[in-house]
Amino acid sequence: MTDEKTIEVPDEMRAQVALTNMADLVKGNLLDKPYNWGRRNSIWPMMFGLACCAIEMIATAASRYDMARFGMEVMRPSPRQSDMLIVSGTVTKKMVPQIVRLYNQMPEPKYVVAMGACASGGGPFKEGYNVVAGIDKYIPVDVYISGCPPTPQALLNGFMKLQEKIDSQSINRERWYDKEDPIEALPVPVLGPDIMDPRDYAMITKQAKA
Ligand code: SF4
Repeated sequence: MTDEKTIEVPDEMRAQVALTNMADLVKGNLLDKPYNWGRRNSIWPMMFGLACCAIEMIATAASRYDMARFGMEVMRPSPRQSDMLIVSGTVTKKMVPQIVRLYNQMPEPKYVVAMGACASGGGPFKEGYNVVAGIDKYIPVDVYISGCPPTPQALLNGFMKLQEKIDSQSINRERWYDKEDPIEALPVPVLGPDIMDPRDYAMITKQAKA
């Protein structure tokens, strides 16, 4: 006899098949492994380069190093279709607002790779009049890759570190799935002498005097 709640399962099948429902799968973290496996092997990077490091990123995507082995060959020309932003090169003050704007336009879950000395901390241009000392002052970074420029092998190693991070994530813990606590867009800096918002000038002057 069966009704809506009771399903007869032959003994032989019972030994082979686990019967459960979606809520229990999620609660028990049983979905994390296949879900993360799919995500780690199909990350779509944004087609976006800033300076000399971008040349190495392009080389990584070409046949010799072959990012396709990591499922990452589908570079998207739109932030709406991308889930990885590789900041590959010098981050100028003029470019920061556009980078933050692009980051905000990417759907969750999304990841940022700071490729090279410039993106990670300003590199040889640190403290320069038009360069910021690392993109992590404006957007969260998941993986930093050292080098000036990093080799394609180093970038691939960074991708593997990102895959390890994805492996450790859980649907139950990450904020992307929490409807009660939505993630706000990051403030877009306003281009100016010190990347400050001119509308805050009175407050900044007051604080400087204090
Ligand atoms: S880290 Fe070196 S290679 Fe990369 S963008 Fe900066 S100066 Fe160029």
